[in-house]
Amino acid sequence: RFITFEGIDGAGKSSHIEAAAEALRAQGRSVCCTREPGGTALAEALRELFLSREMDALTEALLVFAARRDHLRCVIEPALAQGQVVLCDRFTDATMAYQGFGRGFDLNVLAQLEAWVQAGRQPDRTLWFDVPATVAAARRAAARAPDRLEREDLAFFDRVRAGYAARAEAAPQRFVTIDATASMDAVRTRVLATLHDLGP
Ligand code: C5P
Repeated sequence: RFITFEGIDGAGKSSHIEAAAEALRAQGRSVCCTREPGGTALAEALRELFLSREMDALTEALLVFAARRDHLRCVIEPALAQGQVVLCDRFTDATMAYQGFGRGFDLNVLAQLEAWVQAGRQPDRTLWFDVPATVAAARRAAARAPDRLEREDLAFFDRVRAGYAARAEAAPQRFVTIDATASMDAVRTRVLATLHDLGP
């Protein structure tokens, strides 16, 4: 099973991945926790470049898909082949939401890259931690999280959120929308509930 965690910066998704992994391991499952951009030595090096350099949206898209190709080939596909549950912090929905809806890069080109790089591989389930841009911004400020998108305004994150909403609408069979404005405990309970029926 391939499960991805998505949401705008400050939605709180990353804090819930470990809890999800623990719960699944307690059920006797073998779990692989990973993230994007990143997840392999090469993809983490690409992530560093992506986070530290100025670049246009096409370069961003090519870098994240290059990182994804390596990540799929070296980590995700082998783990799935061994029957592990793969929990991935961000995947292609983030590329669509950030580079596509956020930066306005051509969604059709992104869809072509997706088809080319993923060869049909899609998450079995995507947990979208949905939160308004204003709430996420307040959380980021409180956490003083280093943020490559500091210069981006609320309108940018509104567009990214709308991007996730569009993706969720287009693929309702795999998307689970989680109200991430709720308390940590309530969100955690909801996350664990969505992972109960993963099947064998
Ligand atoms: O999710 P994570 O905190 O690892 O993301 C690191 C940074 O890269 C965040 O600021 C996130 O918004 C940004 N990002 C992006 N485009 C992506 C994925 C992540 O701008 N496709």
